Amino acid sequence: MNDETASSKPRFSDATHLIHPRRDVASGFRSLAPGTERASTVLFENIAKWKSRSGFDESIYTYGTSGTPTTRDLQNRIAEWEGGFASVLFPSGLAAVAYAFLPFVAPGDHVLVPSNVYDPVKTLANGLLKRMNVEVGFYDPAVGAGIAALMKSNTKLVWVETPGSITMELSDLPAIAQAAHARGALVAIDNTYTAGWFLRAFEKGADISVHALTKYPAGHSDLVMGSITAKTEALWKQVKDAALQTGQCVAPDDAYLVLRGLPTMPLRMRHVERVALELAHWLKTRDEVALVLHPALPDCPGHEIWKRDFTGSTGVFSIVLQDRFGDSAAAAFIEALHLFGIGASWGGTGSLALTYDLAKSRPNWPHKGALIRLNVGLEDPEDLKQDLMRGFAAL
Ligand SMILES: *Cc1c(COP(=O)(O)O)cnc(C)c1O
Repeated sequence: MNDETASSKPRFSDATHLIHPRRDVASGFRSLAPGTERASTVLFENIAKWKSRSGFDESIYTYGTSGTPTTRDLQNRIAEWEGGFASVLFPSGLAAVAYAFLPFVAPGDHVLVPSNVYDPVKTLANGLLKRMNVEVGFYDPAVGAGIAALMKSNTKLVWVETPGSITMELSDLPAIAQAAHARGALVAIDNTYTAGWFLRAFEKGADISVHALTKYPAGHSDLVMGSITAKTEALWKQVKDAALQTGQCVAPDDAYLVLRGLPTMPLRMRHVERVALELAHWLKTRDEVALVLHPALPDCPGHEIWKRDFTGSTGVFSIVLQDRFGDSAAAAFIEALHLFGIGASWGGTGSLALTYDLAKSRPNWPHKGALIRLNVGLEDPEDLKQDLMRGFAAL
C-alpha cells in the first residue's frame, strides 16, 4: 500500500521527506469526533484558483485567519441552532461584543445600551466608541416600547442583554426591536445567558446575536471564545469583512474543545437549570435573603417576559441579602464556601460565587443588602446546598 504510493513519487533527501512525506496515510477515516485541522497557509491546486480566492467564499479555504474545517464546523453549528444566516468566531466573548458594534457605527452615530449591561461594554462605550465619536446612551432594561422616545435620527444600533448581567432584569426584546426597526436601527443582543439555546433571538426580533462560547458551549472553563451570528447575508458580510480586515480568528484547537463540549451542552444546561431552580426556591425561604433574582422566579424584574420568550433558565442567578448584610457579610459568606470558587465567568463544571459593588456601577440600585451572584456547576446538588449553609452560618 504505502510502498506503492511512495514508489510513484520522486525521491528527495530524508530532510525534505520530513516536510513532504513519501508514504501517504490511508484516507477514508471516519470518526464520531470532529478533526482538528490547523493552518496558517492553505495550499491551492493551481494559480488560477489562488487568483480567484475570496475570504467571503466559505465553500473554499484561503488562509488560517479565514477558517479551517474545524472552525467552520463550529461556526456552522452555532448559526444552525440560532437560526441565523451565518456566524463568525472571535477570540473571546468580549471581542465578539466589540465586533458587533464596530462594523455598524461611524463617527457621529448614536447607539443605545441597557444600564444593566455586562460591565466591559461600558468600558468600550467610554473608550474606543467615545474616541470614534460614537455616542452611547443608556436605557432602563424595563423600557420596552418606550425605547422609541430615546431613539435619535442618528441611532444606528440598539444593544440588548436579557437577562442583564448580575442583576438579571429581563428586557422586552420584541418591543424594543419593533421600535428600533421602525427608526431604521439594528438590534443586537448579547445572548450569552442561554447560549442562544433557550432564547431564539432572531424570532424575537434581533438582527445580530452575540454570545460568549466561553460559557455553556465550551462548558469546562478552559478557553475563551465568542461568536457573532447574523440574521442576513448582508449583515454577516459586514461582520466577516471587519474580522478579515483585522485578522480576528480562533485557534482550531480551541474550536475543537468547543465542538467537544457541544453535544453535552443541552444536558448540562437542563441539569444546572433544575439544580439552580431548586437552590433558588430554597434560598427564597431563608430569612437572610431579601430577594432571589432568578428569571424563573417572580422576584426577578421582567419575569413575565422570561415566561413569554424563553424556553428555559440556566445556572446563573443572584441573591440580595437583607439590608443588615453588607459587603463584609457577603465576603464572609463567599469565603466560607468550599465548593463555590471565587472567580469571574461561569458556565463550567464548577460552581462559583462573587459579590458586586452595585452602588458604583448602578447608581439607582435600590437595595442596601449585598448581592451575591452564583453559578451552579455540576457538583452534587445536596453538597451545594450544604455548602451554602456554611455561607449562612458565617453571616
Ligand atoms: C462572559 C460574558 C461575556 C464575555 O465573554 P468572554 O469570553 O469572557 O470575553 C460577554 N457577555 C456576557 C453577558 C458574559 O457573561
